Amino acid sequence: MDRPNDPQRMERIVSLCKRRGFIFQGSEIYGGLNGVWDYGPLGVELKRNLKDYWWRVMVRERDDVVGMDGAILTHRAVLKASGHEDTFSDPMSTCRQCKRLVRADQVEEAVLETPYAKSLESVFNNGKFNGAAILRWAEREGRKLAPNMAIVRNPQVTLSWLAEHFEEASAPLVEFEDFIRYLATEQLNVTGLVMPCPNCGGDLTEARPFNLMFSTQMGASADTESIAYLRPETAQSIFVQFKNVLDTARKKLPFGIAQIGKAFRNEINPRNYIFRSREFEQMELEYFCRPEHGMELLDYWLEERLKFYENIGLPRTKLHVLTVPDADRAFYSKGTYDIEYEFPFGLQELEGVAYRTDYDLTQHQAASGKSLDYFDEDTKARFIPHVIEPSAGVDRTVLALICEAYDEETVTDEKGKSENRIVLRFHPRVAPVKAGIFPLLKNQPPLVEKAREVQALLRPLMNVFYDETGAIGRRYRRQDEAGTPFGITIDFETLGERDPGLRDTVTLRHRDSMEQERVKISELAARLSGAIA
Ligand code: ATP
Repeated sequence: MDRPNDPQRMERIVSLCKRRGFIFQGSEIYGGLNGVWDYGPLGVELKRNLKDYWWRVMVRERDDVVGMDGAILTHRAVLKASGHEDTFSDPMSTCRQCKRLVRADQVEEAVLETPYAKSLESVFNNGKFNGAAILRWAEREGRKLAPNMAIVRNPQVTLSWLAEHFEEASAPLVEFEDFIRYLATEQLNVTGLVMPCPNCGGDLTEARPFNLMFSTQMGASADTESIAYLRPETAQSIFVQFKNVLDTARKKLPFGIAQIGKAFRNEINPRNYIFRSREFEQMELEYFCRPEHGMELLDYWLEERLKFYENIGLPRTKLHVLTVPDADRAFYSKGTYDIEYEFPFGLQELEGVAYRTDYDLTQHQAASGKSLDYFDEDTKARFIPHVIEPSAGVDRTVLALICEAYDEETVTDEKGKSENRIVLRFHPRVAPVKAGIFPLLKNQPPLVEKAREVQALLRPLMNVFYDETGAIGRRYRRQDEAGTPFGITIDFETLGERDPGLRDTVTLRHRDSMEQERVKISELAARLSGAIA
């Protein structure tokens, strides 16, 4: 059974995604653009099905939610008022030698994963100082793996204070991390112990805030007035358009405004495949309410969102709810939950459900000078509504769906030969292709003609894939790997050649059980539509 933190499983998933056309590295033929991904033919269908289902349950099936689609380019004043321009940052250090930027809170973790740290394990010697071995390492492996580390750049100086220091110290070093710090420190009394650059072993600067927003210039002049941002979240355009939507949609509290769209963050350390990228999509709802209903609606939306994930095939047992502790919550939030999923690389956030009080509307009202309040016709009072925000990542959910669906099993084929079957067990609702349509033999025009008829029948209702090449078993396997829940085979029975009673029936094969049944063509549309709804 696969466990969380299973790098091999993740590697197999990534390789399948590339091989079958789910996800490609952005700008791949030019060496790739870090943290940017393109979705291929199967990936785009999966992503679209996810977004469509979210839109359906969050907007179309509700009386109290309307949608909008805001622009990506955002006025600087919006992100100044929201607090992003001043505070949307991670503390960063720069390497003085290779100039690489590193997130200060992740240096240690990154260093321990480097090839130089792995290679230093053999020199650690359980913390007992061995100057000769260290020098040897610096001259050989160190030069290749960590050319800018103090012990490599300046072995004599570094070793001499190290030797002195360890002669005085009575106990051996306990932690391997400290050992690395010692080797990376050239002047202990000036800098204290330092952690090296994960890329080259060099010196890191003090941590400084680094803004995660992408800015761009609008228009012909390139001065500060012309700066605009690519939005770092979709939420702000909802707050900015709150009054326009309220006036035109004529909604009463509580009501929500939903949006799906791209967001951009200059993440320092994009990683875990599409989990943390620089361009991604969000599905966000801002649900406005009276202040007294905030806390109960926060719990209501948490439950709604958990149901959503279950309905797309992520079992409740793999979803964890983290109640964000007071100290980690935004200062304006009265309560925040993170919904986390057990990815093969660990438990990680899929969605945040936050009670943001009246912070955003109050900020924009103050900064714009335009009233963003709500008039209560019953009490004749005016006030700024509070808001609950379930904010989900499209790409992270796509990744969770793929990780959850991925399965390998050993099966026995018709000839009794056992083989490895890779299958994506997507919920039919999100599966990129709903049914594969296969004429048994491509050189039999009546079979091909009938298969094309079935294709034309189902096409307006769902995404189907026609495939006539190769043995039928191979065609099934190809669709298993694509996660297609149904296979429809048009065979000689369909033509009524052997048993006229079977005329106009097909073999319907089920991906997960591999069971096959006979179904009338006239019943196919209703059967499959029911399963994928
Ligand atoms: P994290 O702590 O993982 O950086 P966050 O708490 O900053 O995420 P939010 O600002 O709450 O994230 O954004 C809401 C959702 O948007 C997240 O739950 C996630 O699904 C998605 N998201 C945020 N940043 C990224 C990213 N860099 N790549 C992909 N999805 C993202």
